[in-house]
Amino acid sequence: MIARSMVNAAQDTAIAMFREAGVPIREDEKKGIAIVDFGLSRFPEEGMHLFTMVSTSRYAAKALGLTPWQTEPEHWHPPVGEDPGKEETVRVLWGTLLFFIDGEDTMRLGRIPEGKGYAYSCRHELVMHPGDQITLKPNQKHWFQADGGGVVIYTFSSTARDVLDCFSDPAIQRTTQIDENS
Ligand code: ZN
Repeated sequence: MIARSMVNAAQDTAIAMFREAGVPIREDEKKGIAIVDFGLSRFPEEGMHLFTMVSTSRYAAKALGLTPWQTEPEHWHPPVGEDPGKEETVRVLWGTLLFFIDGEDTMRLGRIPEGKGYAYSCRHELVMHPGDQITLKPNQKHWFQADGGGVVIYTFSSTARDVLDCFSDPAIQRTTQIDENS
């Protein structure tokens, strides 16, 4: 659950970040920026600002902003029917992205959200700067985080079915509930 006032403020933050990063975005698109708290009600720590440029039944392109140390929780994109699962490319536009996949534990800069060690098993850290990109295989587990300066990235993918993504934290609900009275 996230308060409407926080959603509005976060949309303002997002549009400023996107413009700083050189993502053209119109004023009338601001209300379409999804403020996602993953049902955890701790948006500044685990959450994201997500602007969908296009999402069809075949592909999707989105801009995603994280404020300092904000974290997209560990997840993977499972097979759905005939589809082997979402294949996704992440490209950094602005700021520094700490990206985590399975492999040797090289975590140096990343910070596991407080008390959430059980939900963040990937500890192989990639430090990504503007122009760096990574392509994930379907079903490949990953999570990512802004460093202390915030980050803006593009994600390009095959069909996105966000509500079917799998998360390591069983408390996560991908659909954000907004409290319109606060
Ligand atoms: Zn993903």
